[in-house]
Amino acid sequence: MNALALLISAEPGLADRLLAAHVDDGTGRCALCSSGAQSGRYVWPCTLRSLALEALTHDERRSLSTGTDWKRMASA
Ligand SMILES: [Zn+2]
Repeated sequence: MNALALLISAEPGLADRLLAAHVDDGTGRCALCSSGAQSGRYVWPCTLRSLALEALTHDERRSLSTGTDWKRMASA
């Protein structure tokens, strides 16, 4: 597992926040990443979204073993 994804999964709710922020802006680019100085550089899905997804997969595996409903926790 990617070290950054591991860091993301260690922070409760962070993967969810990243996924909510790093969305397709409608033109195939990340709404957040492409708004920076390097506009147009980041195609969606961007690296951060991929990392968040990886972290989430890791989370789900963990919650399966512990029975933790992380989605409910994140929205609570
Ligand atoms: Zn992004």
